[in-house]
Amino acid sequence: MQQITNFIAGRFVEAASTAWLDVFEPATGQVYARLADSDERDINVAVAAAESASPVWGRTPAAERSKILVRLAGLIERDLEALARAESIDTGKPIRLARTMDIPRVAENFRFFAGAILQASTEMHRTDLPAGAAALNYTLRQPIGVVGLISPWNLPLYLLSWKIAPAIAAGNTCVCKPSEVTPMTAHLLGSLLNEAGVPPGVVNIVQGLGSKAGSALVAHPSVKAISFTGGTATGTALARTAAPMLKKLSLELGGKNPNLIFDDVDLDEVVPQAVRAGFTNQGQVCLCGSRIFVARRIHDEFLKRFTAAVQALNIGDPLDESTEFGSLVSAAHLAKVQSYIELAKQEGGKVFVAGGDRALALPARCARGYFQPPVIVTGLPPTCRTQQEEIFGPVVTVTPFDSEDEAVAMANGTAYGLSASLWTRDISRAHRVAERLHAGTVWVNCWLVRDLRVPFGGVKQSGIGREGGEEAMRFFTEAKNVCIRYPN
Ligand code: NDP
Repeated sequence: MQQITNFIAGRFVEAASTAWLDVFEPATGQVYARLADSDERDINVAVAAAESASPVWGRTPAAERSKILVRLAGLIERDLEALARAESIDTGKPIRLARTMDIPRVAENFRFFAGAILQASTEMHRTDLPAGAAALNYTLRQPIGVVGLISPWNLPLYLLSWKIAPAIAAGNTCVCKPSEVTPMTAHLLGSLLNEAGVPPGVVNIVQGLGSKAGSALVAHPSVKAISFTGGTATGTALARTAAPMLKKLSLELGGKNPNLIFDDVDLDEVVPQAVRAGFTNQGQVCLCGSRIFVARRIHDEFLKRFTAAVQALNIGDPLDESTEFGSLVSAAHLAKVQSYIELAKQEGGKVFVAGGDRALALPARCARGYFQPPVIVTGLPPTCRTQQEEIFGPVVTVTPFDSEDEAVAMANGTAYGLSASLWTRDISRAHRVAERLHAGTVWVNCWLVRDLRVPFGGVKQSGIGREGGEEAMRFFTEAKNVCIRYPN
């Protein structure tokens, strides 16, 4: 059976405990690999490796760092097929999605920050002083040193690379803790880092449980900043450790994103996008539009077409090229999602489960996989738990609205504020509503359009800090002001 070890100082090494955790293929429910069960000892070794690589990497010319990142991007593209297959096996997502979205975006992340580091500029301010003297203040942005990067299971390498790329482009070294549920693609990255010429110790990957390896990383005094993507409860727990140590923190957390559909839209265009927003990666994307609010005048027609389109999704073996909808990521997550489907019924919702028959017709190898067909829930008030709590699975609620004010109030009426979508042909309404929505990203007439230069992150319980271009480069640097006085 394949062993997934740690990657420290450029070498693959077993955990100090010599213990292993089972890694399951979610589409089959079978163990397919063993994972290093790391703890504080492994974190200590990895941080030491990162610390010793830090001075040289921090002084390596930006152009050199950039070249290495470009090489890495090329190697990821070279290995796209193998990485997409590994990602699909690890997560249960359709291989087509891994091939066209996750892995290409990993390469783009490295290539983007390879360019960004060459374009980085800093500020200069001239200050008037008495007697005609003056001072020039300029800002130096220097690497922080060793940073900790913790990522979730839904887009494992994509989200991890979005942290590694700006961190090392800016001259930091890092210790990464991927999700224990989906460790394979980060493991495969290790060899590519070596092949690209990333010096040993610049990127270290410690596998294992969040409660052991993850918490030890957050608590390590030499780790000066933590960039975390995951659930809100984990993020707040982690902040309790990091805040008293005055660590820099970026928290990308949960979402319960609204999707507002006004009555002037072309349903032929909107329905497929609402399906995509609701059910991409089986609804396990933090940005999924899981709460649809639709103008009452078109509500029934929308629901009819939406239901038909969801019903037509091809549920199947994630490794099958024609599959559009795979399995959930783990048995525990399947149980959580199913408990919310029960809750929706208890709360009085009308629950429609799509493709039930076809789910039963899965190939034999998937008989024990963690499959949950898409679910549409109607008839629930926006304040009920089903519409308030993050399910992070293929469960979408559809609710009618009577006015723009009501739509905005319902959209904003949760503790989360990660993203929102709105669909309208009225440009004034688009701007007005976009301004009123409490969310870090508002998509108008689109969903999941990504420009790596823009700030990304959530408001309210969806997090603090911003990732994306300039914001990420700033997060991974310390700003120092140099003030030079000169007489006139
Ligand atoms: P978790 O919060 O459970 O885990 C995220 C990572 O943190 C994992 O690597 C986990 O390890 C680790 N971890 C767990 N406990 C600790 C701890 N005490 N200290 C340090 N690290 C710890 O999230 P999930 O993996 O379940 O991911 C789903 C969540 O991520 C959803 O809420 C989703 O909304 C959110 N998310 C947010 C995004 C955003 O951009 N805002 C993007 C994608 C997802 P282990 O797996 O071993 O527990």
